[in-house]
Amino acid sequence: MQNHDNPLHLLLDAAQFAADRHRDQRRKGADATPYINHPLDVAALLARHGVDDIEILTAAVLHDTVEDTETSIEEIEARFGVRVAGIVSEVTDDKSLEKAERKRLQVEHAPHKSREAKLVKIADKTSNLHDIVAAPPDWPVERKRDYFDWAERVVAGLRGQHEGLDAAFDAALAQRP
Ligand code: ZN
Repeated sequence: MQNHDNPLHLLLDAAQFAADRHRDQRRKGADATPYINHPLDVAALLARHGVDDIEILTAAVLHDTVEDTETSIEEIEARFGVRVAGIVSEVTDDKSLEKAERKRLQVEHAPHKSREAKLVKIADKTSNLHDIVAAPPDWPVERKRDYFDWAERVVAGLRGQHEGLDAAFDAALAQRP
């Protein structure tokens, strides 16, 4: 593990690492903002709701690096430690499966995740719903509705860890197109 004596260094190192790994990716939304805005938004949402566990915030910043870039869990563990890597691993889909199966498994697995992974996942879904409303991707309205409905089913299995985050998700859900 890299030397992260100062916990803020762990978080900032993760931000730099994720920004570099996602450097060629853009969000699907109309404004096609750099991808890194999304994991930063997820971590900021957690922090705004009082989550101050630096390893959870670090995992939030890294949460899409293994699923969406050429990054391995081993690499995350070597650099950011076993706990951060464990959380990232829990929120990473198995990309060898079909998309429909991955989406089904998210619903099925949600209730069995650790508290840390549940917090990251609920913030992730909240951020995604916000983005669909604030900068709509070029999707038919049915596809947007399907995404909201699926997110609601996933989050049903994540609730109960943090009242404020549950409420933030519900507020985002209420914006369903
Ligand atoms: Zn995400």
